[in-house]
This record gives sequence, C-alpha cells and structure tokens, in this order.
Amino acid sequence: MTSGRAMQWGIPCYSDRVAKTVLVLLAYLVYCEARPISLEQQHLEHSRALQVNTAGFAKPDYSYYHKSDELLREVRLLVERHPDIMETETLSHQNEEYSANMEVVTVRPYATPGEAPRTLRALLDFGQHGREPITCEVALRLLRVLAGEAELPPGVDQLQLTGLLKQLVIKIVPAENINGKRKVEAGELCERKNGRGVDPNRNWSIDWGVKEPDYDPAEEFPGTGPFSEPEAELLQKLAAGFRPHLWVNVHSGMEALFLPYDHLSSTPPDTVAGPMLELLQKVNRLHCGGRCVVGSGGGSVGYLAHGTATDYMFDVLHIPLPFTWEIYGDEKANNDDCFRMFNPVSRAVFEEVVSNWTSAFITVLSDLSLTLDKLPAPYTDDRWLVRNTSSALGQVNVSVDGSMHGIRRDDLPWEEHSAGSIKGLAEQIKKRGSLEELEDSRGMYSAFGQTWYEILPIVVFGLVFASLVLRRSSVWLWWRRRTYSRGRGTPRAILPL
Ligand SMILES: [Zn+2]
Repeated sequence: MTSGRAMQWGIPCYSDRVAKTVLVLLAYLVYCEARPISLEQQHLEHSRALQVNTAGFAKPDYSYYHKSDELLREVRLLVERHPDIMETETLSHQNEEYSANMEVVTVRPYATPGEAPRTLRALLDFGQHGREPITCEVALRLLRVLAGEAELPPGVDQLQLTGLLKQLVIKIVPAENINGKRKVEAGELCERKNGRGVDPNRNWSIDWGVKEPDYDPAEEFPGTGPFSEPEAELLQKLAAGFRPHLWVNVHSGMEALFLPYDHLSSTPPDTVAGPMLELLQKVNRLHCGGRCVVGSGGGSVGYLAHGTATDYMFDVLHIPLPFTWEIYGDEKANNDDCFRMFNPVSRAVFEEVVSNWTSAFITVLSDLSLTLDKLPAPYTDDRWLVRNTSSALGQVNVSVDGSMHGIRRDDLPWEEHSAGSIKGLAEQIKKRGSLEELEDSRGMYSAFGQTWYEILPIVVFGLVFASLVLRRSSVWLWWRRRTYSRGRGTPRAILPL
C-alpha cells in the first residue's frame, strides 16, 4: 500500500518512517559519543564490560587470604598488643559523595626521644589496586614480623632487625584502595580501580591525564582531575607531611622492581639512578631469583603510565628512593582470569611469596642508610638525614581542608630533578608534536574516553550518513518538488532513458 504522493516519485511511503527512525537513532548515537558522563555511570559501563564467563577461573581462598574487614581487624589488634612500638590511625576524605578511609600504621620500635641522630623514614604502600590482594598480605606479615609475632623470614636474624629498627620510623598503608578491594571480594575479580572507577595510580599530578594510543578507560581512567580521588589525596598529604626517604608502592601482575620514571622511558640522571639500581639489583638477586625486570617503569613495563604516585613522590616531593615493586605475576594466566594473574592460587606459593617479599623489605630497610650515603647532594642534606625524633615519629595530622605542611618545591635546590622534569617535558612535546598538542591530550574524556578531536570524525561520518538517508526521506522529496516546480530540473525517477 503506497500513497499517491509517494507513488508519484516511485518511492514507498514507509521509507519516510525508516528514515526518521534512522535519523533519531543516529542523533542518539552521536549524543552518546559526545556527552560527558559521571564517574558513576562510567564505572557502571566498565563494570558491565568486565562481565565475562568466569567458569574455571581462579577464586580467592579466604582460608588464607584476608577479606578487608578481617585484615583491618587483624592490623588493629596487632597494634593494640604493641602500643609501645606501633600506632594506627584511620584517615578519611570525601569528594563529591564518594568517600574513602585509609588505615595507616606507624612503626617506631626502638627510637628513644632525644637520642636518634639519624632517623630514617619509610612509607610503604600496599593494595593500591583492588585485584592485587597478595600485596596486602605482605603488609600484614611485615607488621607481624616487626612486632615480633611472626617467624623471621629466612636470612634475617633478630639482632639485625633490632639494630635496623633503632634508626627507623616506618609508615605502612596495608590496603590503600580498600573500596576497590571490597569490590574484588564481592566478585569483581578484575577490578583494579577505586570504588567509583578511577585508577588511584593515574590520579596524581605528574603528567596527569595524558593518554597513550592504547589507553583503556576500563583499566586506567585517571579521574576528573589530579587528586580528584580521596585515596590519592590522603596519600599525598601523608607523604608530604612525613617526608620519607624511602617510598615503595607495592603491586602485583609481574615480577619487577621499578624506579622513576613511569611517564617517560628514561631514568633520572646516573648519579641518582645508579645507587637506586644497585639497591634494586640486590633485592632482585636475593629475593627474585634474578627474574625481576629492573629499570624505569616507563622503560621496562611495556607502556608509559601517566599520573602515577611514584613519579610524583620523586618529581614533586623529591623522595630520594621512590620505587614501585611488582611482587608476583602469572603471565601464563588467561587475560580474564585476573585472580590467578595477579595472586598466588595455592597456599604453598602464597606462603613463599609473602615470606620472601617480607624479607625483601627487611633487606631494603637494612640498606637504606648505606644507599642514601651514595646519593649526591642534596639527598645527603641534613634536612633529609638528621631530624629530631619527635618530628620524625611522623605525627602527621592530615587535615584535608588545612594547608599541607610538606616541603615546597621552591624550597629546595633540586637542579637535577628540575633537569629531569624539563627533559621529561621535552620528550613529551617531541612525541606529541607541540606543547599545545600535549595540553590537548590532557582533555576531558567523553563516554568512551575520547577527546573532541577523536569524536569529530564520528560526527562528520554521522552527517554524511544522515545526508544519504535524507535523500530517501520526505525532506529530500520536498526539496526536489520545490526545485522542479521552479522548472530547474526533471525528477530522475521518471527520466525516459
Ligand atoms: Zn597494580
């Protein structure tokens, strides 16, 4: 059945409805591509993308892994039993309806006020990614060893440990991304981001928001701006107030010991990188069977990472020894078999990994003083190496609203670091073409992670497609009738030849 008007042009009238439907759908698609969406929506979409058939995949065995609540309870009970050498606090922060808590344990075993000529400080961060719970297990074991409640790992004797701890204040964050960890415990075994879909290790301000060609928002969405996430903000203030000599960001997924940079494929100048590499090679030899990849994160891991904590610790807070350790990985695991890929799945391997890496921390803490001595000025500056004990205890009152009482970048003569940063910027500009393009690449993301210039081809395609559809629609017919009625053409459908 066709109408008389449409029959005149030889086109059935249902093409009008089809054309209108297609146009509406097209407009909706273009809108979906371009619209900015909330973090919650983004997270939902990514969570849906993570739904895969998990039959046959490994699951955590909670007879030896600790769920978040149990881990925190164990930590707090341990601290309660050793109030002379340990204390714990729960930091919290909220940003736009999203809040996060962060447990921080301070260990200062044998420091006596007034007698510590050289108090060294270490900040050790575990569980930054939800799907890497093995790292949190190492934190718990390390705390137990430091408290004298767990058997000493092989190669460590009590005398060595006691001597070492006399000069140390250690802050341990056993589970930085506790909201992400809880999601993993609820069954989202591939989730690495925080409770609202932001990667806590892409939310820091060094090179924040730069995207590589293979950028995947499901994995490394950096948030709406530097420090938009409570996890990063809390940790930044903690580090800025505590000013550690050693920072270790503990991850899993492979076996590697990284020094800066993550956002560049280069390392800091040799005078700085040399002693760092020497220390990491020793850890590799003693605790990784020589298998660990050792080098800059960006130069060794196979991709550049922008907005990471370790780059910030080095470039902004000027922490002399900033590392990222990857303590376990099953590279043969299926890509979607996340628990197996990032964590040991047998009690025996679990025990071996936990014990071995606890021991690795004792190694690196034992060599801390020696390694700092090998670094050039200003790392040997008194400001770093001699502090009175009361301030070194790290009684950091993290006031989220208040001013940060860390060092200011301008305070320190860090020529080498500045050179590193300028070199870094130059490398980025070279790669991106110009400073403007570099800035462009830090733009906001749309629903599918594109910036405006990535959406442009989609819009152009949409318009071309729409014009093709219009040729079959009533609008086109109206235009042609208008044209022909003015005697400027002959409808093609009735051409005789
Ligand atoms: Zn990780």
